[in-house]
Amino acid sequence: MPSPQHAKIKPAKLYINGEFVDASDGAAFETVNPATEEPITTVARASAKDADAAVAAAKTAFEKSKWATWPSARRAQLIHAIGDKILAHTMELAELESIDAGKPIRETSTIDVPMAADVFHYYAGLVRAVTGDTIPVSPKMLNFTLMEPVGVCAGITPWNFPILMAAWKIAPALAAGCTVVLKPAEATPLTACRLAELIHECGLPPGVVNIIPGKGSVAGQRLVEHPDVAKVSFTGSTEVGIRIMQDAAKTLKKVTLELGGKSPNVIFADSDVDTVVKMAQQAIYYNKGEVCTAGSRLLVEEKIYGEVVEKLGQRAAKMTHGDPLDPETRLGPQVSKQQMESILGFVESGKKEGAKLVAGGERAGNKGYFVKPTVFADVDPKAKIFQEEIFGPVVSAVSFKDFDDLIAKANNSIYGLASAVWTKDINKALSFAKAVKAGTCWINTYGLFDSAMPFGGYKMSGIGRDNGMAALEGYLQSKSVWVALG
Ligand code: NAP
Ligand code: MG
Repeated sequence: MPSPQHAKIKPAKLYINGEFVDASDGAAFETVNPATEEPITTVARASAKDADAAVAAAKTAFEKSKWATWPSARRAQLIHAIGDKILAHTMELAELESIDAGKPIRETSTIDVPMAADVFHYYAGLVRAVTGDTIPVSPKMLNFTLMEPVGVCAGITPWNFPILMAAWKIAPALAAGCTVVLKPAEATPLTACRLAELIHECGLPPGVVNIIPGKGSVAGQRLVEHPDVAKVSFTGSTEVGIRIMQDAAKTLKKVTLELGGKSPNVIFADSDVDTVVKMAQQAIYYNKGEVCTAGSRLLVEEKIYGEVVEKLGQRAAKMTHGDPLDPETRLGPQVSKQQMESILGFVESGKKEGAKLVAGGERAGNKGYFVKPTVFADVDPKAKIFQEEIFGPVVSAVSFKDFDDLIAKANNSIYGLASAVWTKDINKALSFAKAVKAGTCWINTYGLFDSAMPFGGYKMSGIGRDNGMAALEGYLQSKSVWVALG
């Protein structure tokens, strides 16, 4: 039974073809508050049959609804209206996100929800920026391209930024004129389900957006295999991304994959130590380390390595956990028991592989899935904690001698999602930005995102980009038209 704190949160349903429905087989699951370990409410669990129904609705909407015939200005207005709706419900959505995912309300109310609204506002503006080309092939021909939507798109999202990831998948697809089926992560379905209600209120034709919580291995996989889905945009682990690419290949779908990371956060000796330590702390512990761009590999120039590690350890040790709904809380619980256990498993492996534990290294308390902010130093770059994505509040520090040593260490990873460099020397900063193999490089800052800035990975961190014009292009295909003149 839901606790009194959760009593007002009603059970969530599937949103298919403009209607809120139970799963066809009646299946449902409980979503849990990771700060209290208590169930919040029940959520309908889509079966493969429900995924089929959602795709059928999206296909009909794409081919036959007003969505396909409305002028682009009308589409832009509706996408803008979704952004307005989200903003108007900022606190409600932020609370829901904090309860479901353990994210501090100071983050969800100022970052996750407003940014999700901004994604819709940004893509509403881009609807009418889509243009084809005229190409001077021959004086006897008129050649031009039409940019057309790819069709029905599936969005599959992870649990760490639930409403923001939903926005990243839905908004550009709609801007392109596609229709969408979104499958949010089972660990954190509530804001996506509430978003379905808000989108419904905006008056989109039925079937343009469908939202179906359910298991990745069932509803998610069905979307990836469905012959009527033209594109899959996925954010999640590299392991599942590989699987999705394989399954999508059978019907040759377009795929965008935003996957894991092990981002190097680089500190040169000319930096102001107190500033960079504070920023290194934020880079790893923001959203309790459950961030694909977390600064989880700290590379510090030898001269200040000892001082940085010591001060970071002191700051980490002073951090306290709290109720995600308390505006003072900066550190919430990990998203689930499974995630907490996985993180603690990595911590044990770090100890076994001989890294020096400077701070944290254990669960905090015994109620709620809290893990102490952890700092490992003198880590062997081959160690598991330096190579694998932990997705929790654990940073591994190593020192570097010179620029060549730094680049060798920074790029010694299967991942290439993000990176950062701290220095007063513009040459060092830009040389690093050019040499690092990562989709984002922050210079003297960390973790900034904008709807207009393309985001995605090099190497095994992904294929394609979210955000910016780049993401919109992923939902469009060009048609070349040849007109014989005279
Ligand atoms: P995950 O296990 O890969 O799951 C992501 C989503 O895929 C969930 O909705 C999941 O469903 C679904 N899924 C699982 N198996 C599937 C299958 N066979 N076919 C279709 N869908 C399937 O990742 P997660 O544990 O939720 O999230 C953490 C990971 O995401 C981390 O590795 C992190 O780096 C990565 N991430 C990357 C970015 C980025 O932008 N690059 C952003 C955020 C997170 P269920 O879980 O509901 O069953
Ligand atoms: Mg939850």
